[in-house]
Amino acid sequence: SARHQGKNQILFFDSELAEKAEKRLTQEFDILQGIEEGKFALWLQPQIDMRSGEVIGAEALLRMQQPDGSWCLPSDLIVNAEEIGVINALGRWVFEESCRLLADWQQRGIELTLSVNLSPIQLRDADMVTHLREHIDRHNITPGSLVLEITETAQVGESDHALHLLQALHEAGISVALDDFGMGYANLNWLNQFKSLPISKIKIDRSFVSALPDDDTMVRIVASIAAISKLDVVAEGIETEAQRDWLLARDIYIGQGYLYSEPLPRGQFDRYYFSLGKVINHREEC
Ligand code: C2E
Ligand code: MG
Ligand code: MG
Ligand code: MG
Repeated sequence: SARHQGKNQILFFDSELAEKAEKRLTQEFDILQGIEEGKFALWLQPQIDMRSGEVIGAEALLRMQQPDGSWCLPSDLIVNAEEIGVINALGRWVFEESCRLLADWQQRGIELTLSVNLSPIQLRDADMVTHLREHIDRHNITPGSLVLEITETAQVGESDHALHLLQALHEAGISVALDDFGMGYANLNWLNQFKSLPISKIKIDRSFVSALPDDDTMVRIVASIAAISKLDVVAEGIETEAQRDWLLARDIYIGQGYLYSEPLPRGQFDRYYFSLGKVINHREEC
């Protein structure tokens, strides 16, 4: 094969490239075809007011149906979609599905917020806000019920374009949460930038919550950043009662995690919501 013909470097590189291009095309096809064929779904993880145990919202988490019929998010799917340039198409499907879901809830009198994850790449899509507002108008939903989660890799403080976009979201009444909040933010320079951003929530990263209650340094830092910036705090990845109690004792009372529920398919989420957490949910295998 070309791989073993050391004397012919050009042939070697060509075959590598061809292989890569082919893989990329297959992946692109799989994702676009998957959207067409209904192979994607949003699963919902309840967000809880831990003082009362009440469900106050949900995070929408993408799942893709596997050949064996199970649903999971392959760990490289988002990264691949970003690399091969289909993340905007996938993200638009996520927006549309989220708006449909919110419209359905609001018609049934269910007032929950829905948090939707956004890739940093989508923050570079000039039409993103227009597109989102179209969906919101078409489905006639309250803009404030939608929360967009962006991550620190979006480097929001450093890009003029991202700043404009955040401003436009703010003006459209859509909330923004900083996801996976932690290490990268724990310096004062960043804090100064951060104070001027139109952001309403921060989500404390699971890696810090899982270190509670024994190692509480990072969560204390993050919580004081939040207090200074007057932002709502959500803790993610709460798995134990000890973690919940530590957070509650520090007035961090909005949380999500396996202690309450794993992400659930829609029907199961509804049952969880209506029975306020008395459903025993299954484990996700992926
Ligand atoms: P994330 O936004 O930080 O979501 C939280 C992840 O932690 C989810 O993984 C969730 O299932 C998991 N999780 C929640 N509670 C617990 C817990 O108590 N213990 C443990 N061990 N894990 C918990 P998931 O669904 O696999 O999603 C992984 C990441 O993929 C998300 O992290 C998010 O960054 C990204 N993602 C998911 N859906 C979308 C989407 O629609 N669009 C984009 N751009 N990214 C998405
Ligand atoms: Mg998230
Ligand atoms: Mg997160
Ligand atoms: Mg995360």
